[in-house]
Amino acid sequence: MSLSQTIAITTSEFEQEERQLKMTQSLRINKVRLWSSLMEHAKIGARPDGGINREALTAEDGKGRDLFASWCRDLGMVIAIDTLGNMFATYAGTDNDLKPVAMGSHLDTQPCGGKFDGILGVLSGLEVVRTLHDAGVRTKRPLTVVNWTSEEGSRFVPSMAASGVYSNIFTMDEARTWKDREGIGFIEALREIGYEGSEPVGQREFEAFLEVHIEQGPVLESKGALVGVVTGAQAMSYNTVTITGRESHAGTTPMDMRLDPVAAFTRITAACYEKANATQDARFTVGLIETIPESHSTIPHQVSFTLDLRHPKADVLADLIATYEIVADKERALGFDIERNEFGASPELTFDENCINAIREAVEACGYSSMDLVSGAGHDAVYITHVCPTAMIFTPCKDGISHNPAESITPEEAEASANVLLLAATELANA
Ligand SMILES: [Zn+2]
Repeated sequence: MSLSQTIAITTSEFEQEERQLKMTQSLRINKVRLWSSLMEHAKIGARPDGGINREALTAEDGKGRDLFASWCRDLGMVIAIDTLGNMFATYAGTDNDLKPVAMGSHLDTQPCGGKFDGILGVLSGLEVVRTLHDAGVRTKRPLTVVNWTSEEGSRFVPSMAASGVYSNIFTMDEARTWKDREGIGFIEALREIGYEGSEPVGQREFEAFLEVHIEQGPVLESKGALVGVVTGAQAMSYNTVTITGRESHAGTTPMDMRLDPVAAFTRITAACYEKANATQDARFTVGLIETIPESHSTIPHQVSFTLDLRHPKADVLADLIATYEIVADKERALGFDIERNEFGASPELTFDENCINAIREAVEACGYSSMDLVSGAGHDAVYITHVCPTAMIFTPCKDGISHNPAESITPEEAEASANVLLLAATELANA
């Protein structure tokens, strides 16, 4: 072969790649098909109130997986399943020695869940592949659509269970101890629905992982943004606080002679609320309050409550905790015994810059309104980011409602996040 022939071949290959790339950039997903697939899948586990009950590893979860798998097979995708039931449906690229770009979320729901939490991310990934398949386009890297097992944590604790094992947050030994309220084991339930695979969890590697998810909060809707570019997840601290005072009679003990732990509780929480209200993006929640004894005519001996503190920045979160400690010390000086036990914490997380940039470019190419957000809730992506470059795309949801039959998005909102996923995933898969 002469040099000029070699150059000609190289040029034509280059031109072909360029053409392919331009074509990919002009592709858009099929809104009607995505929406009808969401509605078709929502028949599985449908509740009379319009909600969905498709808890992890139930027969309904099995049926939901079967339908998803059949749709993937229609496109010639190859499905692999690991020992915790994580499903990986792969659409071949032009160079299958390269690590795939993954897209996905979870198919399980809360017992009284909605039609979009989780499944939107899985079916958006499927819609991306359907769009490429229709156009006869292959990306350089393969594309894998993932269903992570048991994200919700309602039937089996913890949440984000199988993505957690995949990301080394939990171990397989721990997974073998997980049981539901009836004592049925996680692995046993997995076998029951026929989704215990053979692939070791965490063995499969990805170039990047992108998760589309409904926001589950009211911010995008209130700001009029069609797409949320999720830059990370906030730092979180979950605590139980116990204040011990002195039990006495409600009628006979003068106000200035009491050691009332509920009074201390109100002073501490008032100071924390004041600090949180004055701190941008802070989240402060007292979700559970218990007194001992529970009697209307007795000043309690003890009050216990939870403190859920969150902020995108770890140092600001530390400052919120410091505010609590200062006021707790003031109460200790009055004679109260106060203990705080942190039973859970999550660090400030920043998603991968390259993935975030791919999402930003996709938003711009589509001309959508968007805003940056930090995830307030846990998601599979929040764990996957520990082992793989990751980012998330948020879709607005009506009034911020989720984990509820009233959970609602529009076909146009679903279309926008899926288009952003299409362009971002193909960009990463062709790089
Ligand atoms: Zn979810």
